[in-house]
Amino acid sequence: MAGIPPKPWPTGEAELLEPLVRRVLAPNPSPYTYTGTQTYVIGAESDVAVIDPGPNEPEHIDAILRAVGDAQVSAIMCTHTHRDHSPAAAPLAEKTGAPIVGCAPLVLKTDLPRADEAFDTTYAPDRVLEDGEQMRGTGWTLTAVATPGHTSNHLCFALEESGALFTGDHVMGWSTSVVIPPDGDMGDYMLSLEKLQARDDAVYHAAHGAAITKPRQLVRGMIGHRRQRENQIIRLMNEQPRAVSAFIPYMYKGLDERLIPAAEMSVTAHLIDLEKRSLAARSHEAGVEIWRTI
Ligand SMILES: [Zn+2]
Repeated sequence: MAGIPPKPWPTGEAELLEPLVRRVLAPNPSPYTYTGTQTYVIGAESDVAVIDPGPNEPEHIDAILRAVGDAQVSAIMCTHTHRDHSPAAAPLAEKTGAPIVGCAPLVLKTDLPRADEAFDTTYAPDRVLEDGEQMRGTGWTLTAVATPGHTSNHLCFALEESGALFTGDHVMGWSTSVVIPPDGDMGDYMLSLEKLQARDDAVYHAAHGAAITKPRQLVRGMIGHRRQRENQIIRLMNEQPRAVSAFIPYMYKGLDERLIPAAEMSVTAHLIDLEKRSLAARSHEAGVEIWRTI
Protein backbone atom coordinates (compact mmCIF):
# COMPACT_ATOMS: atom_id res chain seq x y z
CA MET A 1 0.00 0.00 0.00
CA ALA A 2 1.29 3.42 -0.92
CA GLY A 3 1.53 6.65 0.98
CA ILE A 4 -0.99 9.41 0.36
CA PRO A 5 0.32 12.32 -1.77
CA PRO A 6 0.75 15.74 -0.16
CA LYS A 7 -2.26 18.07 0.02
CA PRO A 8 -3.97 19.94 -1.49
CA TRP A 9 -6.22 17.46 -3.27
CA PRO A 10 -8.95 18.60 -5.68
CA THR A 11 -11.75 17.74 -3.19
CA GLY A 12 -15.15 18.94 -4.43
CA GLU A 13 -13.89 20.15 -7.83
CA ALA A 14 -15.01 18.67 -11.14
CA GLU A 15 -11.90 17.75 -13.15
CA LEU A 16 -12.30 17.05 -16.88
CA LEU A 17 -10.37 13.84 -17.64
CA GLU A 18 -11.59 13.21 -21.18
CA PRO A 19 -14.43 14.77 -23.23
CA LEU A 20 -17.07 12.48 -21.70
CA VAL A 21 -15.61 12.05 -18.21
CA ARG A 22 -15.43 14.35 -15.21
CA ARG A 23 -14.18 13.36 -11.76
CA VAL A 24 -15.25 14.74 -8.38
CA LEU A 25 -13.20 13.78 -5.29
CA ALA A 26 -15.14 13.18 -2.05
CA PRO A 27 -13.88 14.49 1.33
CA ASN A 28 -13.17 11.03 2.82
CA PRO A 29 -9.40 10.40 2.72
CA SER A 30 -8.11 7.46 4.81
CA PRO A 31 -5.59 4.61 4.63
CA TYR A 32 -8.30 2.63 2.78
CA THR A 33 -9.60 5.33 0.46
CA TYR A 34 -6.34 7.17 -0.40
CA THR A 35 -7.23 10.84 -1.13
CA GLY A 36 -10.93 9.88 -1.05
CA THR A 37 -13.59 8.27 -3.24
CA GLN A 38 -13.71 9.53 -6.82
CA THR A 39 -17.17 10.00 -8.30
CA TYR A 40 -17.36 10.11 -12.10
CA VAL A 41 -19.86 12.12 -14.14
CA ILE A 42 -20.27 10.62 -17.63
CA GLY A 43 -21.63 12.55 -20.62
CA ALA A 44 -21.21 16.02 -22.13
CA GLU A 45 -24.72 16.83 -23.31
CA SER A 46 -28.23 16.94 -21.93
CA ASP A 47 -28.01 13.81 -19.79
CA VAL A 48 -25.32 12.18 -17.68
CA ALA A 49 -24.63 9.12 -15.54
CA VAL A 50 -23.00 9.33 -12.12
CA ILE A 51 -20.68 6.44 -11.21
CA ASP A 52 -19.96 5.70 -7.52
CA PRO A 53 -21.71 8.67 -5.88
CA GLY A 54 -19.65 8.03 -2.75
CA PRO A 55 -20.29 8.66 0.94
CA ASN A 56 -23.47 10.39 2.10
CA GLU A 57 -21.78 13.75 2.75
CA PRO A 58 -23.91 16.82 1.87
CA GLU A 59 -20.81 18.71 0.74
CA HIS A 60 -19.93 15.93 -1.73
CA ILE A 61 -23.50 15.60 -3.03
CA ASP A 62 -23.52 19.38 -3.64
CA ALA A 63 -20.23 19.07 -5.56
CA ILE A 64 -21.72 16.31 -7.76
CA LEU A 65 -24.81 18.44 -8.43
CA ARG A 66 -22.58 21.39 -9.37
CA ALA A 67 -20.72 19.15 -11.84
CA VAL A 68 -24.02 17.90 -13.30
CA GLY A 69 -25.31 21.46 -13.75
CA ASP A 70 -28.41 21.65 -15.95
CA ALA A 71 -28.04 18.14 -17.33
CA GLN A 72 -30.47 15.41 -16.39
CA VAL A 73 -29.04 12.52 -14.37
CA SER A 74 -30.31 9.44 -16.15
CA ALA A 75 -28.57 6.84 -13.98
CA ILE A 76 -26.73 6.62 -10.66
CA MET A 77 -24.42 3.64 -11.02
CA CYS A 78 -22.56 1.86 -8.21
CA THR A 79 -19.63 -0.52 -8.72
CA HIS A 80 -20.21 -2.12 -5.31
CA THR A 81 -21.73 -1.37 -1.93
CA HIS A 82 -18.87 -0.54 0.39
CA ARG A 83 -19.80 2.48 2.48
CA ASP A 84 -17.37 4.78 0.69
CA HIS A 85 -19.11 4.10 -2.66
CA SER A 86 -22.89 3.83 -2.56
CA PRO A 87 -24.54 5.70 0.38
CA ALA A 88 -24.90 8.94 -1.61
CA ALA A 89 -26.99 7.07 -4.22
CA ALA A 90 -30.29 7.39 -2.31
CA PRO A 91 -30.06 11.13 -1.47
CA LEU A 92 -28.81 11.88 -5.00
CA ALA A 93 -31.72 9.88 -6.46
CA GLU A 94 -34.10 11.86 -4.30
CA LYS A 95 -32.66 15.18 -5.47
CA THR A 96 -32.48 14.29 -9.18
CA GLY A 97 -35.22 11.69 -9.70
CA ALA A 98 -32.64 9.40 -11.32
CA PRO A 99 -32.84 5.62 -10.98
CA ILE A 100 -30.14 3.69 -9.12
CA VAL A 101 -28.70 1.16 -11.54
CA GLY A 102 -25.77 -1.21 -11.31
CA CYS A 103 -24.49 -3.72 -8.79
CA ALA A 104 -26.78 -6.01 -6.84
CA PRO A 105 -27.51 -5.31 -3.18
CA LEU A 106 -25.46 -7.45 -0.85
CA VAL A 107 -26.87 -9.57 1.92
CA LEU A 108 -24.12 -10.71 4.26
CA LYS A 109 -24.53 -14.09 5.83
CA THR A 110 -22.32 -13.19 8.79
CA ASP A 111 -21.54 -10.11 10.78
CA LEU A 112 -17.81 -10.62 11.34
CA PRO A 113 -15.56 -7.64 12.01
CA ARG A 114 -13.99 -6.35 8.84
CA ALA A 115 -11.18 -3.91 8.21
CA ASP A 116 -12.40 -2.48 4.92
CA GLU A 117 -15.12 0.17 4.83
CA ALA A 118 -18.23 -1.63 5.99
CA PHE A 119 -21.09 -2.49 3.70
CA ASP A 120 -23.87 -0.07 2.89
CA THR A 121 -27.07 -1.78 3.98
CA THR A 122 -29.27 1.10 2.74
CA TYR A 123 -28.41 0.44 -0.92
CA ALA A 124 -31.58 -0.35 -2.89
CA PRO A 125 -31.14 -0.38 -6.70
CA ASP A 126 -34.00 0.20 -9.12
CA ARG A 127 -32.29 -2.02 -11.64
CA VAL A 128 -29.46 -4.55 -11.29
CA LEU A 129 -27.17 -4.88 -14.31
CA GLU A 130 -25.98 -8.32 -15.31
CA ASP A 131 -22.63 -8.84 -17.01
CA GLY A 132 -22.76 -7.26 -20.49
CA GLU A 133 -25.94 -5.23 -19.92
CA GLN A 134 -25.83 -1.56 -20.92
CA MET A 135 -27.08 1.88 -19.95
CA ARG A 136 -27.26 4.48 -22.72
CA GLY A 137 -27.49 8.26 -22.78
CA THR A 138 -26.78 11.02 -25.30
CA GLY A 139 -23.31 10.25 -26.63
CA TRP A 140 -22.45 7.59 -24.03
CA THR A 141 -22.90 3.87 -23.50
CA LEU A 142 -21.84 2.11 -20.30
CA THR A 143 -21.52 -1.69 -20.27
CA ALA A 144 -21.43 -3.66 -17.01
CA VAL A 145 -18.42 -5.97 -16.61
CA ALA A 146 -18.97 -8.36 -13.70
CA THR A 147 -15.79 -8.49 -11.61
CA PRO A 148 -16.48 -10.29 -8.31
CA GLY A 149 -13.62 -10.69 -5.82
CA HIS A 150 -13.13 -7.45 -3.86
CA THR A 151 -16.85 -7.94 -3.14
CA SER A 152 -19.18 -10.56 -4.59
CA ASN A 153 -21.34 -7.87 -6.25
CA HIS A 154 -18.55 -5.82 -7.85
CA LEU A 155 -19.08 -4.44 -11.38
CA CYS A 156 -16.78 -2.40 -13.60
CA PHE A 157 -18.36 -0.15 -16.25
CA ALA A 158 -16.93 0.22 -19.76
CA LEU A 159 -17.49 3.50 -21.61
CA GLU A 160 -17.79 2.21 -25.17
CA GLU A 161 -17.24 5.60 -26.87
CA SER A 162 -13.78 6.20 -25.37
CA GLY A 163 -12.45 2.80 -24.32
CA ALA A 164 -12.31 3.82 -20.65
CA LEU A 165 -13.12 1.30 -17.93
CA PHE A 166 -14.37 2.42 -14.52
CA THR A 167 -12.77 -0.13 -12.26
CA GLY A 168 -14.18 0.82 -8.83
CA ASP A 169 -12.04 -0.97 -6.23
CA HIS A 170 -11.24 -3.97 -8.43
CA VAL A 171 -8.08 -2.44 -9.91
CA MET A 172 -6.54 0.73 -8.51
CA GLY A 173 -3.25 2.42 -9.31
CA TRP A 174 -2.29 3.38 -5.76
CA SER A 175 -2.76 0.04 -4.03
CA THR A 176 -3.78 -3.54 -4.56
CA SER A 177 -7.42 -4.30 -3.88
CA VAL A 178 -8.35 -5.56 -0.40
CA VAL A 179 -10.07 -8.95 -0.54
CA ILE A 180 -11.86 -9.68 2.71
CA PRO A 181 -13.62 -12.98 3.36
CA PRO A 182 -16.30 -14.14 3.67
CA ASP A 183 -17.74 -11.88 0.98
CA GLY A 184 -14.42 -11.12 -0.70
CA ASP A 185 -13.12 -14.14 -2.62
CA MET A 186 -9.52 -14.49 -3.80
CA GLY A 187 -10.31 -17.14 -6.43
CA ASP A 188 -13.01 -14.90 -7.94
CA TYR A 189 -10.70 -11.90 -7.71
CA MET A 190 -7.97 -13.66 -9.72
CA LEU A 191 -10.52 -14.72 -12.37
CA SER A 192 -11.76 -11.11 -12.54
CA LEU A 193 -8.18 -9.87 -13.05
CA GLU A 194 -7.77 -12.38 -15.87
CA LYS A 195 -11.06 -11.18 -17.33
CA LEU A 196 -9.68 -7.62 -17.53
CA GLN A 197 -6.40 -8.82 -18.96
CA ALA A 198 -8.30 -10.38 -21.86
CA ARG A 199 -9.93 -7.01 -22.68
CA ASP A 200 -8.33 -4.09 -24.49
CA ASP A 201 -9.50 -1.07 -22.48
CA ALA A 202 -7.52 2.10 -23.21
CA VAL A 203 -7.50 3.54 -19.69
CA TYR A 204 -8.83 2.68 -16.23
CA HIS A 205 -10.50 5.22 -13.98
CA ALA A 206 -10.50 3.73 -10.49
CA ALA A 207 -12.54 4.86 -7.50
CA HIS A 208 -9.34 5.83 -5.70
CA GLY A 209 -6.09 7.15 -7.19
CA ALA A 210 -4.92 8.44 -10.56
CA ALA A 211 -6.02 7.20 -13.99
CA ILE A 212 -4.20 4.09 -15.17
CA THR A 213 -2.86 4.57 -18.68
CA LYS A 214 -1.20 1.16 -19.11
CA PRO A 215 -3.98 -1.02 -17.77
CA ARG A 216 -2.92 -4.41 -19.03
CA GLN A 217 0.59 -3.96 -17.75
CA LEU A 218 -0.80 -3.10 -14.31
CA VAL A 219 -3.20 -6.06 -14.30
CA ARG A 220 -0.42 -8.42 -15.37
CA GLY A 221 1.68 -7.08 -12.49
CA MET A 222 -1.19 -7.58 -10.05
CA ILE A 223 -1.74 -11.17 -11.12
CA GLY A 224 1.99 -11.77 -10.66
CA HIS A 225 1.94 -10.05 -7.26
CA ARG A 226 -0.90 -12.26 -5.98
CA ARG A 227 0.79 -15.42 -7.26
CA GLN A 228 3.97 -14.33 -5.50
CA ARG A 229 2.01 -13.77 -2.28
CA GLU A 230 0.47 -17.20 -2.62
CA ASN A 231 3.89 -18.83 -3.11
CA GLN A 232 5.20 -16.94 -0.08
CA ILE A 233 2.29 -18.24 2.02
CA ILE A 234 2.93 -21.82 0.89
CA ARG A 235 6.63 -21.44 1.68
CA LEU A 236 5.92 -20.08 5.16
CA MET A 237 3.48 -22.93 5.90
CA ASN A 238 6.05 -25.44 4.68
CA GLU A 239 8.60 -23.94 7.09
CA GLN A 240 6.14 -24.25 9.92
CA PRO A 241 2.35 -24.39 10.33
CA ARG A 242 1.19 -21.06 11.69
CA ALA A 243 -1.61 -18.68 12.65
CA VAL A 244 -2.60 -15.91 10.24
CA SER A 245 -0.90 -13.25 12.40
CA ALA A 246 2.43 -15.12 12.08
CA PHE A 247 2.52 -14.58 8.31
CA ILE A 248 2.35 -10.79 8.51
CA PRO A 249 5.88 -9.87 9.73
CA TYR A 250 7.40 -11.88 6.85
CA MET A 251 5.02 -10.70 4.16
CA TYR A 252 4.40 -7.03 4.95
CA LYS A 253 7.58 -5.47 6.27
CA GLY A 254 7.13 -2.00 7.74
CA LEU A 255 3.35 -2.04 7.34
CA ASP A 256 1.34 0.85 8.80
CA GLU A 257 -0.14 -0.60 12.01
CA ARG A 258 -3.62 0.53 11.03
CA LEU A 259 -3.43 -1.75 8.01
CA ILE A 260 -2.51 -4.94 9.87
CA PRO A 261 -6.14 -6.15 10.12
CA ALA A 262 -6.54 -5.69 6.35
CA ALA A 263 -3.28 -7.56 5.70
CA GLU A 264 -4.44 -10.42 7.95
CA MET A 265 -7.72 -10.64 6.09
CA SER A 266 -5.92 -10.62 2.76
CA VAL A 267 -3.72 -13.53 3.92
CA THR A 268 -6.87 -15.30 5.14
CA ALA A 269 -8.43 -14.81 1.69
CA HIS A 270 -5.40 -16.52 0.11
CA LEU A 271 -5.54 -19.34 2.68
CA ILE A 272 -9.24 -19.98 2.05
CA ASP A 273 -8.53 -20.05 -1.69
CA LEU A 274 -5.68 -22.56 -1.13
CA GLU A 275 -8.00 -24.61 1.07
CA LYS A 276 -10.64 -24.68 -1.68
CA ARG A 277 -7.97 -25.92 -4.06
CA SER A 278 -6.91 -28.63 -1.54
CA LEU A 279 -3.48 -27.05 -1.05
CA ALA A 280 -3.94 -25.97 2.59
CA ALA A 281 -5.87 -27.05 5.69
CA ARG A 282 -6.62 -25.53 9.06
CA SER A 283 -6.86 -26.94 12.55
CA HIS A 284 -7.62 -25.40 15.93
CA GLU A 285 -4.96 -25.46 18.60
CA ALA A 286 -5.74 -23.80 21.93
CA GLY A 287 -8.43 -21.70 20.30
CA VAL A 288 -6.14 -20.44 17.52
CA GLU A 289 -6.57 -21.36 13.87
CA ILE A 290 -3.37 -22.92 12.53
CA TRP A 291 -2.75 -23.27 8.80
CA ARG A 292 -0.58 -25.90 7.12
CA THR A 293 0.04 -27.25 3.64
CA ILE A 294 -1.33 -30.67 2.69
ZN1 LIG B 1 -14.56 -1.32 -1.75
